[in-house]
Amino acid sequence: MSQSEHSQQTDCAQVVLRLFEYVDHEAAEEDGVRIREHLDACGSCLREYERDLLLKEMVKRACSSEAAPAALRTQIMARISTITITEHLGDGRA
Ligand SMILES: [Zn+2]
Repeated sequence: MSQSEHSQQTDCAQVVLRLFEYVDHEAAEEDGVRIREHLDACGSCLREYERDLLLKEMVKRACSSEAAPAALRTQIMARISTITITEHLGDGRA
């Protein structure tokens, strides 16, 4: 009599395994629909999904706040040195 319980657990395991794909919108469309339907019916998976969403958001923020300034600094430094050289050349010639 634990058959339905078992299939429910398997379903949850499959959903949790695919949550990362679903969160990243990489799940196939019919998988996404199945996961959505399961999330509507299963509170524990929904909580897991919300945690994944939060985690993804945090990772995204952490990545962008660390990677962007480094790249930006390089670009700004390159631009500043270009401007400085150009200005010095202009001053020297004028
Ligand atoms: Zn579930």
